[in-house]
Amino acid sequence: MKKYQNFIGGKWVDAKSGDVFENRNPANWSEVVGTFPKSGREDVDEAVRAACSAFDRWRLVPVPQRGDILRRVGDLLSARKEELARLMTREMGKVLIETRGDVQEGIDTAYYAAGESRRLFGRTAPSELPKKFAMAIRVPVGVAGVVTPWNFPMAIPTWKIFPALLCGDTVVFKPASDTPATATALVEILLEAGIPEGVINIVHGGGSDVGMAIVEHPDVDLVSFTGSTPVGKKISAAAAVTLKRVALELGGKNAQLVMEDADLDLALDGVLWGAFGTTGQRCTATSRLVLHEKIYDTFMNMLVARTKKLRLGDGLSEDTDVGPVINEPQRKAIHQYVEIGVGEGADLVLGGKIATGDGLKNGWFYQPTIFGGVRPEMRIAKEEIFGPVLGVIKVKSLQEGVAVLNDTIYGLSSAIYTRDINKAFEAIRDIKAGITYVNAPTIGAEAHMPFGGVKQTGNGHREGGWTVYDFFTEWKTVYVDYSGRIQKAQIDTYHQ
Ligand code: NDP
Repeated sequence: MKKYQNFIGGKWVDAKSGDVFENRNPANWSEVVGTFPKSGREDVDEAVRAACSAFDRWRLVPVPQRGDILRRVGDLLSARKEELARLMTREMGKVLIETRGDVQEGIDTAYYAAGESRRLFGRTAPSELPKKFAMAIRVPVGVAGVVTPWNFPMAIPTWKIFPALLCGDTVVFKPASDTPATATALVEILLEAGIPEGVINIVHGGGSDVGMAIVEHPDVDLVSFTGSTPVGKKISAAAAVTLKRVALELGGKNAQLVMEDADLDLALDGVLWGAFGTTGQRCTATSRLVLHEKIYDTFMNMLVARTKKLRLGDGLSEDTDVGPVINEPQRKAIHQYVEIGVGEGADLVLGGKIATGDGLKNGWFYQPTIFGGVRPEMRIAKEEIFGPVLGVIKVKSLQEGVAVLNDTIYGLSSAIYTRDINKAFEAIRDIKAGITYVNAPTIGAEAHMPFGGVKQTGNGHREGGWTVYDFFTEWKTVYVDYSGRIQKAQIDTYHQ
């Protein structure tokens, strides 16, 4: 069993308290992946001090040089992809094909950042005065606090940390307590690639201790957070005290709409992947399936038959389709939602129990679960469950389907399956979500495209692609007057 440490100001250190916490394999809870420092406010203080002092130097490193380091990071991630994927599966349970994809997302994000290092474009504009030059350039912000969840332990930290570093910000990183080993491996790779001391710092520990200490710290200039909506609200309120900039990527209640003219086999592959991939624990997971009444019965039969064939097990086995859920409290929460659904009168057509077959007894496994006859007003249709539970709702038309899709406080991902181009475009226009897929599942973000949601899924920022660089830089407006005399802007010269 490995003993892990924080990395602060260029040194591997224990928590000042000396306390530790364990991280266990959710497919086999007797296996301890490692012990980690249970840090507190004093550890965060030290990390923020190191990041502040490193900022003075890092901001002056030319952006293409920062990009070269991130290109090396991409190379190292590629070289270690399999080893990292296996560590991640042991740590949080999802199957190897998905953990490899998670690392690949980090590789793509690294190479994108390296490419962006030769752009990071500003703008020039004509001045309203003669002999005056006007431009806006991007400058680093300062110390970035990065707080991340466990479901994409490599991809999500890279979506935040790589753009922050490329832009010249320094980082204090608090990963989820369920995935600290993958996060530490990422920091090790950043160091090996040449990130200087103090520029990246990792502090392990609980959310309300370490996470909140980062958010509240007066010398942290911005916070990028991905996690649940309730925690996002707390972070937003706490950050308001120091008026720091906050990017929030929060929960979802994503739906797939299947119209009567859809390719049903394609729609079936989509919903199986969307609902039960990552054991339903993606922010973009399909947790509602909205079926046109004309295909409802046929599709339900197809869905139940295929879901029954999904094989549960340890994600390290290539035969496994669905791994465990992350931990015992989460499994309990999922089961409570199943009881709520039964109590609300939904029709439990498959699953609904803790899975206890061969090889499952020592892990946090839950049966893939399907509710039919779900009505939009039910709690299981409105609240994020974050597990392998799918609620199916019947509708009569495209308009009703879109209204059901929109009937939630969240707005992350959405999908419509149809062969009718007119219906597809009407749905694209009317669905209130940050992402809409046509004839593809609700999951499948690409690293070079904006990622994020509307309503209570976020606060308007986007990760990924070119858009994330707006968050990690300030716009500085620069005027150069080469007239040699005072020129007064904003004077109404036409009417003088
Ligand atoms: P949480 O909100 O519980 O935790 C996310 C992170 O915040 C963890 O590092 C956690 O630490 C930390 N944290 C917890 N409480 C606080 C606090 N009071 N102050 C500061 N930090 C805190 O989410 P989960 O990790 O359970 O992740 C699942 C959630 O994330 C789902 O709601 C999912 O939809 C959402 N998500 C959203 C995505 C998006 O892009 N929109 C992508 C992926 C997930 P600790 O682990 O120590 O508790």
